[in-house]
Amino acid sequence: MTTSVTIASDVIDQVGLDQAAQFQSRVTVFECVECSTAGDARTEPAVVVLRRSPGLSHLGVAHHRCANSQVRDYGPGDLALTGETDLVPRAIGLPTVDGTKPALLLAFEEQVALIEGGHTYDPVVRQLVSEGLHALPGLGKAAPDSPGWRIALGAEGRVRVQSDVRVHLRGHVVVPSPWLRLASPARAVTLLFGSLSHADIYADQPPFRAYAAALRAGRMVGGTVRLETVVSAF
Ligand SMILES: [Zn+2]
Repeated sequence: MTTSVTIASDVIDQVGLDQAAQFQSRVTVFECVECSTAGDARTEPAVVVLRRSPGLSHLGVAHHRCANSQVRDYGPGDLALTGETDLVPRAIGLPTVDGTKPALLLAFEEQVALIEGGHTYDPVVRQLVSEGLHALPGLGKAAPDSPGWRIALGAEGRVRVQSDVRVHLRGHVVVPSPWLRLASPARAVTLLFGSLSHADIYADQPPFRAYAAALRAGRMVGGTVRLETVVSAF
């Protein structure tokens, strides 16, 4: 069986040889980014397409007959994480030296990092920092305030997370009552926002070590954010 997954050199320039090679070696079945039908790189030639916008980067696969391997640039908003499909909220209690602190984790599955001037960066995280979240060294210390951000909790676990630039999430979250008891008096919670592996996002117990590693690697950022309990619909 001969297989071929082509990656153009300008894609490799953007994501680095290691990431490109890892991605290339993992491609099996795919949904073509061009024609949206299924393909299988083990039985037909395929190409890698890097789509990037100021707020997102994504490595996808296309049939060889549908596209050439290439970098495609999109404007802000044309290619972005959507709260409906890509962001998974989780209400967690963070163990700290001052006791358990309430936090809301907003996670998305790992994106491809881009290279600029010899440095690797995650475009999503870069955008979150520009909207007022902070790089954090770890989970043990209180996160600096992010005054432009708000978390609204409604009835039946409805949750809305927004910066002063946009609404990032309108969704539902399971809020354990101990979490609410911790969060309500302070009217503020730690927001952690960044990328994790699929397994870490959906782990039964919060994998704190993975969260800390994501913070250290610059794949996750955070802040102390105002909490509004809103019972009416929103
Ligand atoms: Zn196709």
